[in-house]
Amino acid sequence: MSRSQYTFENPVTRYPQVEAPEEQVPEPGHDTQLTPSADHGEETYRGSSRLVGRKALITGGDSGIGAAVAIAFAREGADVAFTYLPEEEDDAQHVRNQVETAGHKAVLIPGDLSHSSFCSQAVSTAVRELGGLDILVNNAGKQLYCTDIVDLPDEQFEQTMRTNVFALFHLTKAAVPHLRPGSTIINTTSVQAYLPSPILLDYATTKAAINGFTKALAAQLAPKGIRVNAVAPGPIWTPLQPSGGQPNEKLAHFGSQTPLGRSGQPAELAPAYVFLASPESSYVAGETLAVTGGMPTP
Ligand code: NAD
Ligand code: MG
Repeated sequence: MSRSQYTFENPVTRYPQVEAPEEQVPEPGHDTQLTPSADHGEETYRGSSRLVGRKALITGGDSGIGAAVAIAFAREGADVAFTYLPEEEDDAQHVRNQVETAGHKAVLIPGDLSHSSFCSQAVSTAVRELGGLDILVNNAGKQLYCTDIVDLPDEQFEQTMRTNVFALFHLTKAAVPHLRPGSTIINTTSVQAYLPSPILLDYATTKAAINGFTKALAAQLAPKGIRVNAVAPGPIWTPLQPSGGQPNEKLAHFGSQTPLGRSGQPAELAPAYVFLASPESSYVAGETLAVTGGMPTP
């Protein structure tokens, strides 16, 4: 492996600007069908024993940012359980192969996180199969754009809330009794929490809620030795985007509005999660690490 996350390169040209085809796919999108394909670090992520023996549960670990995090965690020495929707089995098997090739256990947990019963079941399955839990990454998310509140279906508003906010509560509530001092919780928020797009009313609202949840929970759990933090991605090339996440006209130049001038790749997110999961960040709690290509998070 010659090129890795440690290779010095111009960040502007490290990855080419994504040229997305003018074609939307049904939700949930699949990484196996994403054009152009995304980089999850399969060829580049170099582990250095930063999470040896840790046991992690990642929601939405089949694709996009969650897949990159699962691959990185395994290469850093962790066993990884992850959730995904049953129709995402193809992507989940790819991540399973990556985790097992790294020499670690992969536990696949298909199901719908908008049901609270599945959230608690996912935690108990992970704890049972991994023999405990040290890291919870609340990463799964739903994003469907809609230009006018009048046209935003009640069902979509509720489902986005359930997936992005309620699930965080149910997963975390189920996980906390298993977390010992030194454990970490990492929530995936978004630049949308700070700079909400008018067409992402419901989604941006959930991301602002995640920020509040993260800070309150961090203060609550810090005395127990459990650190809670968040990562705020900017525009990242994942299956979320061309499956109703953005209209075609925005996908055509996706990420070009960032100071770095391009969209990010999932592989560029993974080191932020590794940092927050590892004891290197032992004095970091209630923080949001922005990985936005330079977009401000005021
Ligand atoms: P992705 O589509 O690869 O991952 C999202 C995952 O969420 C899916 O794989 C799916 O398994 C899961 N999911 C959705 N609804 C679910 C449900 N009801 N039950 C169970 N699982 C469900 O896309 P991604 O961009 O990697 O998204 C990961 C996180 O990153 C999300 O929270 C998203 O909001 C956030 N994010 C993404 C971007 C971006 O530009 N891609 C930017 C900011 C934040
Ligand atoms: Mg997916």
